[in-house]
Amino acid sequence: MSKDRSYKIAVIPGDGIGKEVMPEGVRALEAAASRFGFSLDLQWHDFANCDYYAKHGQMMPDDWKARIGDVDAIFFGAVGWPDTVPDHISLWQSILQFRREYDQYVNLRPVRLMPGVPCPLAGRGPGDIDFWVVRENTEGEYSSIGGHMFPGTEREIVIQETVMTRHGVDRVLRFAFDLARTRDRRHVTSATKSNGIAITMPFWDGRVEAIGTEYPDVTHDKYHIDILTAQFVLNPQRFDVVVASNLFGDILSDLGPACAGTIGVAPSANINPDGTSPSLFEPVHGSAPDIAGKGIANPVGQIWSAAMMLEHFGEDAAAAGIMAAIEAVLATPEGRTPDLKGSADTVTCGKAISEAIAGA
Ligand code: ATP
Ligand code: MG
Repeated sequence: MSKDRSYKIAVIPGDGIGKEVMPEGVRALEAAASRFGFSLDLQWHDFANCDYYAKHGQMMPDDWKARIGDVDAIFFGAVGWPDTVPDHISLWQSILQFRREYDQYVNLRPVRLMPGVPCPLAGRGPGDIDFWVVRENTEGEYSSIGGHMFPGTEREIVIQETVMTRHGVDRVLRFAFDLARTRDRRHVTSATKSNGIAITMPFWDGRVEAIGTEYPDVTHDKYHIDILTAQFVLNPQRFDVVVASNLFGDILSDLGPACAGTIGVAPSANINPDGTSPSLFEPVHGSAPDIAGKGIANPVGQIWSAAMMLEHFGEDAAAAGIMAAIEAVLATPEGRTPDLKGSADTVTCGKAISEAIAGA
């Protein structure tokens, strides 16, 4: 919690439904600020979207970092409009820039089945699915080191390297073990594939063992990624904190929320735990061009991301207030959006949550 409880936040809605769910995220933040007594300085930015690209030939201005300036956090919607800009350009020139430039080396996603959200896994209810996925966010399999030789010929060769550094691996593992310490079960599961990926993954496994010895009060185990994905579906109650490399974490952090219902409610945080630059909070879902403009997008992923941001600030009571409001509204069909078989539109659902926050 900052001394004056005043938070400067860059607000970047992005594309598609990002522009529709962001106002609901902000409405929830404002309701929480007045109910829980902190203040907000919200700075809206109209870049990191594909309209900006159409006008300027790039997703962000060259001086984007200066324009964002010294903020406590970035509140982000969703980016991408594949009809105008290919996804690999829109994402690399926006969200991936933020992650790398701000050294947001942890991507954190809660996987929790909320009451009122139908679970695609037979026989599972709230309480059966409650864990965190901690994804390494700055190195690993997502590197631009490699080469492409003899393109278009029979001799064509492509190579892309995985980069793991001891510094990069250790810091995300420590974050996962620290997180496990805050939980009742105190258990870390590591995603590996050291039976097939014979250099980087055995290194990863070795670092898990080494860091694990620093946390004698936290138990840990490991699964190969193939069987781990099966276990997410078959035995989700087995997990507490799951830590994974960039690629494996990417896969698990979509599979997890899908097991817990809909990606429309799932939040995420890109965290710089050292506090040397701002962290970024965004829903898991993308810009959803198929439903954009219809006003039916589920705003809960954006609003839950606001709760994660407030928790990051140390505003725990406000974060809990938002979560209680989400749970109350999702419990009724009139509060839920069509993806959850409800009748509410984006604004109706968002307003109901904000009213519940105000009355918390
Ligand atoms: P990414 O941007 O990560 O590549 P994507 O484009 O593959 O994601 P999304 O944009 O997240 O995927 O959409 C996937 C599906 O989920 C679409 O059918 C979309 O309509 C639906 N969806 C995504 N977010 C929401 C939401 N907030 N409310 C309702 N439906 C959603
Ligand atoms: Mg997309």
